[in-house]
Amino acid sequence: MTATPLGPGPEFDRIRAIGSALGDAAAGLGDDCAFLPDGWCVSTDLTVEGVHFLREWLAPEEIGWRAAAAALSDLAAVGASAEAVVVGLSARREEPTEVLAAVMRGVGRVARSVGARVVGGDLTGGAELGLAVTVMGRTDRPVHRSGARAGDEIWVTGTLGGARAALEAWRLGQEPSPGARELFARPLPMIAAGQWLARAGATAMIDVSDGLAGELHHLAAASGVGLAVELERLPLGDGVVEMAERVREAAPAFAARGGEDYQLLVTLPAAVNPTLPELTRIGVVTGEPGVRLTLRGAVLTLTGFDHFR
Ligand SMILES: [Mg+2]
Repeated sequence: MTATPLGPGPEFDRIRAIGSALGDAAAGLGDDCAFLPDGWCVSTDLTVEGVHFLREWLAPEEIGWRAAAAALSDLAAVGASAEAVVVGLSARREEPTEVLAAVMRGVGRVARSVGARVVGGDLTGGAELGLAVTVMGRTDRPVHRSGARAGDEIWVTGTLGGARAALEAWRLGQEPSPGARELFARPLPMIAAGQWLARAGATAMIDVSDGLAGELHHLAAASGVGLAVELERLPLGDGVVEMAERVREAAPAFAARGGEDYQLLVTLPAAVNPTLPELTRIGVVTGEPGVRLTLRGAVLTLTGFDHFR
């Protein structure tokens, strides 16, 4: 089996064990997408009620939007277009039809926003609402996780931590700020930015689904390089400063540990001066393997979200 190395953590230990169990039945595991002939890229993402969201937090249309946006984000992470979406939907038997229709309307709206269409799916009874979203896109020149080189610079799109700020507010029984809620409920797949970065010469790219800290470990492992990030440079999402203070964490660390922002973490040769307005430079690629996070000079140890930790 050929596989791109993943970072540490119990979730990724399980994925490694699955890869071993598949043996030569698997190929090319470990990137954000699978790469098929003729430039086709495929990825799948599972969203489950009670794990990824609670009903009280989101309207049905937002549940669908968010689930599909999370899947589409993996196409963005390799610089691909978004062409087609297939959805496996599970729901309790007594779930009103209008709710299922609204969930799928959300899927359709985010798909259309990036030029894709829903081309099929499956509906089954189940214990809770769940969506398995498979996305297909194309690129002639995919960006892998493995191409970062010492001397490249590390950039991130958009802002980080906003989705976590919304989550923490709900956990504390509060209403999130409207901006943080929007970042959680309706993340925008960075398809256009991913394509732009691929054309600009991105050497490695990954989407920030489980928190910047975790994604940095995956990128470092895949590329066999070191990543040095100055956390004070992180662009902070709406509500981050307030919620970080509530949970007594430094705001940049709060943002770096927060998942589900669906922004892109990318390395670019230092000679590239990207003009994309939503990009922030946060660090440099080094020759000393591993991830080095500093906050105003002090070294911090942070990990991303792990479903099995
Ligand atoms: Mg990903």
